[in-house]
Amino acid sequence: MDNKRKEMFTDLERHVCQSWQEGDWVIFYCSECEFKRKLNWKTGEVKLINPGQFDALHSGMNIPFQSEHIQIDSN
Ligand SMILES: [Zn+2]
Repeated sequence: MDNKRKEMFTDLERHVCQSWQEGDWVIFYCSECEFKRKLNWKTGEVKLINPGQFDALHSGMNIPFQSEHIQIDSN
């Protein structure tokens, strides 16, 4: 279903990121180019630690844990 998108990005390398949780932060890391960034799931803050290979397409960057794990203050 993503055929059009794939055609746009055929020149890009595809890297699959690993992700894990460290306290309030979710870490995304690519072992191929050392791309690394972290996302604070409480505040939504994103910090880029290592830009890695700039023109690579990184996948596997979705938040890996279940949404019911997050406590959201609706007040
Ligand atoms: Zn990479």
